Amino acid sequence: MSEPITLRDLVDIPVERLKGVGPKKQASLVKIGITDLLDLVTNYPRRWVDRTNEARIADLVPGEEALVLVTVRSVNKRATRNRRTIVNVNVGDGSGRMDLVFFNQPWRERQLKEGLQIALFGKADTYRGGLQMSNPIVDLIGDRTGRIVPIYPQSEKAQINTWEMASWIEETLRRCEERGIADPVPSAVLCEYKMISRSDALAGIHLPEDMKQKEMARRRLAFDELLRVQLVLVLRKRALERDQRGFKHATDGDLVRRFYDSLPYPLTGAQERAIGEIFVDLANGHPMHRLLQGDVGAGKTVVSVAAMLVGVQSGHQAALMAPTEVLAEQHAASVRLMLDGVTVPDPANLFGDRPLRVELLTNRVTGAARKDILEGLADGSVDIAIGTHALIQNAVDFSSLGVVVVDEQHRFGVEQRSALRDKAADGQMPDTLVMTATPIPRTAAMTVYGDLDVSVLDELPPGRTPIVTMWANGPLMETAVWRDICDEVQAGRQAYVVCPLVGESEKLEIASAEETRERLARDELSGLRLGLLHGKMQSDEKEATMDRFRAGEIDVLVATTVIEVGVDVPNATVMAILDADRFGIAQLHQLRGRVGRGEHASTCWLITQQREDGDEGNPRVEALVETTDGFALAEVDLELRGEGTLMSTSQKGRSDLKLASLRRDRNLVEMARRAAFVIVDADQDLVNHPLIADEVDLMFSDRDEEFLTKS
Ligand code: ADP
Ligand code: MG
Repeated sequence: MSEPITLRDLVDIPVERLKGVGPKKQASLVKIGITDLLDLVTNYPRRWVDRTNEARIADLVPGEEALVLVTVRSVNKRATRNRRTIVNVNVGDGSGRMDLVFFNQPWRERQLKEGLQIALFGKADTYRGGLQMSNPIVDLIGDRTGRIVPIYPQSEKAQINTWEMASWIEETLRRCEERGIADPVPSAVLCEYKMISRSDALAGIHLPEDMKQKEMARRRLAFDELLRVQLVLVLRKRALERDQRGFKHATDGDLVRRFYDSLPYPLTGAQERAIGEIFVDLANGHPMHRLLQGDVGAGKTVVSVAAMLVGVQSGHQAALMAPTEVLAEQHAASVRLMLDGVTVPDPANLFGDRPLRVELLTNRVTGAARKDILEGLADGSVDIAIGTHALIQNAVDFSSLGVVVVDEQHRFGVEQRSALRDKAADGQMPDTLVMTATPIPRTAAMTVYGDLDVSVLDELPPGRTPIVTMWANGPLMETAVWRDICDEVQAGRQAYVVCPLVGESEKLEIASAEETRERLARDELSGLRLGLLHGKMQSDEKEATMDRFRAGEIDVLVATTVIEVGVDVPNATVMAILDADRFGIAQLHQLRGRVGRGEHASTCWLITQQREDGDEGNPRVEALVETTDGFALAEVDLELRGEGTLMSTSQKGRSDLKLASLRRDRNLVEMARRAAFVIVDADQDLVNHPLIADEVDLMFSDRDEEFLTKS
C-alpha cells in the first residue's frame, strides 16, 4: 500500500498502536475523546509558546509582560483568614529566582511539582525586595525544545501532559511521512485561495517553525472544516433544486398592487429589497427555499403577506405556520387586519372581484367550523390558511398549495416543514419562506441555514421610539425600577414583569411567577392592577388575560417567558426582567421587543442580584444595555458562547468546528461556500472527487447532516 494516507486510514488505526500508549494511557485518552489517530492529530494545541521571545529572570523589567522558562523549586499552600487559598511557588532559571503567587487556585499545589519545567507569561513586580508574578499564565512544557512549543488542552482527570500528547502526535506525523497525507481538495481551489497542502498544515499546526507558519496551517485546516460543512449543505441544496418542480407564479398582478395601495405606510427600503428577492424566486420554476431574517418589529409580516398574495393571485393557496397557538392567532388577527377590504380580481365573478378568504386553523378550531375550513382548503375556496402544526396533519388537504410561510422564532424540525411541503399537489413543490426573528450574523446564517437563500430586513420602520435599556444591579437600584413602573402606570401606560425559568422545572417557574405577583401586589406595586400569565394556563384563560391587558384593565402583567413571542401591546412601555443574568442574549432581546411598539418612549430594566464574590462584570447584560441592534447582539452572543460551535452541544463530534470560528473566519466561510459550489456544480454527486465524498461521509454522521439541513 503506498497511496497517500487519508483521514479514514487514520480513523482505522487505534491510538494504542503508538509507542508509549499502553492500556492506562489509552484509557486516559478515551476519557478526553481520543480513540484513533485522527482524533489525535485533530487534537490541536490550545496555545503556542513562542520561545523566540523568551526572557531570563535576570532580564525581567517590573511592570512589563514577559515569557520566562523556569524550573519549580518549592510549592507552599496556605489559607487566609477569609478562607481563600494562596499558593506560593518559588522558581528559578540559570539567571536568578523569583516568587509566584496564585490566589484562589488551590489546585496549583498539585499541578506544580518541584523540578518541573514551566513556561510563565505575566507581569513581574517587585515585592519585598524580590521579583514576583501574581497569577501568571502557566504552561507545562517539560523538556521540550524547539522555538515554538505547542501547548495542548489539559484536563486534570485525563492525567496526560502536554509533552506526552505532543510526542504521540509527532510520532504519528512521522509515520505518515513515507506515504504522505492525501489532499482531497482540488489543487485549483487550493491555488485560488492560497492554501498550503494538508500535510504541511498538519505539521505546521503541531510543529511550527514560527508563528506565521502556524497561522497558515490554521487557515488551511479551518478552511477544510468549513468546506466539509458547506459541501453537505450545497450538495443538498443542489439535489433539492434538481428533484423539485416548482410553480411559476405571476408576481405582477392586481391583487398585490391592491395590497400595497391599501397599506397605511410606504414599505421600507429593506422590505422592498426582500420582496424583490422573493418575487424573483416565486416567478421562476424552481421552488423557493428562502430565509427572511429580520429583527423583532422589522416588518416581516407585510413581506410574508405579499408573498402569499402572489400565490393567491396565481390561482393557488398559501399557508402560514406558526410555532404556537397564541402566535398563530396573533398572525391571523394581524393578517386579516392588513387584508381588510382587499379583494381578489376574479373574471368568473359578475362583479369582477371576490373577497379574500383567510382562515385560522389550530387545534382549538373544532366541530362544524373545522369541517367548514377543511372543506374550503380542499376545494380551494380558502385562499390563505394560518395555523400551527394542525395545518400539516394528515386530515388536511389543500386544493393547490403554492406558497408556504413558516414563522419560526426558533427552529422548526425538518419533518414539520417538509410535511407541509408534501401537501403539494401533483408533486409540485410550493415556494417556502422561513421567517426568523433570531438575528444570525450573515456568515453564520450561511452555515446554519446553508441550504437556504437569505434575505435580510436590516432596517426598522420609521417612527419607532428606541428602547432605553438599563441595568438594575442589586436591591438599591431595583427600587428605582418599581418606582418607574408606578410612574408610567400613573401616566396611563402599562408594564411587563418577566420572571425567569427556575431550573428546568415549569412547576417551580409558575410558583415563582405567582409568588412574585403576590409580593409585588403586597409591596412594591401595591395599588396597581396586576395580572398573571404563564405557560400552564388554559389557552382561553391566557387569551382572556391578554384581552384584559390589551384593553387596559390590567396595569402590570407578571409573566413567564410565554410573552417572548408575538405579544403586541403598544401601550406597554416598561419591562422589568428579573434575574436577567439567567437569560441568554437572544432571549433577552426577544423579550425586550415586547415594548417599544408604540409612540411612547419605552424602558427595559434588567434586574440582577448583586453577586457575593464582588465580581461585577456581566457581559450579556452589558451588551443589551449597549445596543438594540439584534445583529450586533448576535455577534456578541457568538463570541461569548464560545465561538464556532456549530452543532448543538449534545452533538459535539468529528463534525464540529475545532479551529474555524464563524465569527472570526468570515472570509473563510465565504471562500468555503464558493469552493463548495464550484466543486458540486462540476460534479453533482462527487463521483470525480471520491476522496472528498468519503471524507464528508466520514466526518458527518447522518444525524449531523440532518441537523445541518434541518431547514
Ligand atoms: P416582525 O414580524 O418583523 O416582528 P411586524 O410585521 O409584526 O414585525 O411589524 C411590526 C409593526 O410594524 C407592525 O405594527 C406593522 O404594522 C408595522 N410596520 C410594518 N412595516 C411598516 C412600514 N413599512 N412602515 C411603518 N410601519 C410598519
Ligand atoms: Mg411578527
